[in-house]
Amino acid sequence: VITEYFIPLTAACGVTALSSPSLHVEIEVDLGKRCWYHSVFACPILRQQTTDSNPPMKLVCGHIISKDALNKMINGSKLKCPYCPMEQVPSDAKQIYF
Ligand SMILES: [Zn+2]
Repeated sequence: VITEYFIPLTAACGVTALSSPSLHVEIEVDLGKRCWYHSVFACPILRQQTTDSNPPMKLVCGHIISKDALNKMINGSKLKCPYCPMEQVPSDAKQIYF
């Protein structure tokens, strides 16, 4: 149930907000509270809830996956986002807090 919940939330909170820098602040304020309200975050890659030791991480492209998933995606020193073709450095991913 939580996993099904999660996917539209990501689209609303992560992807949309970050794909348009000029709208970023407005959307984040508006949707942020709704996202925060659902404090349980399930990683769509590993289909498990994030925890203190496996926190959600925001990639440079704005997509959010769990830290465990991120570590699995690392290929050498590069990380390839599971949602989009963007290659990035794993250390650029930022932990997000709920
Ligand atoms: Zn991405």
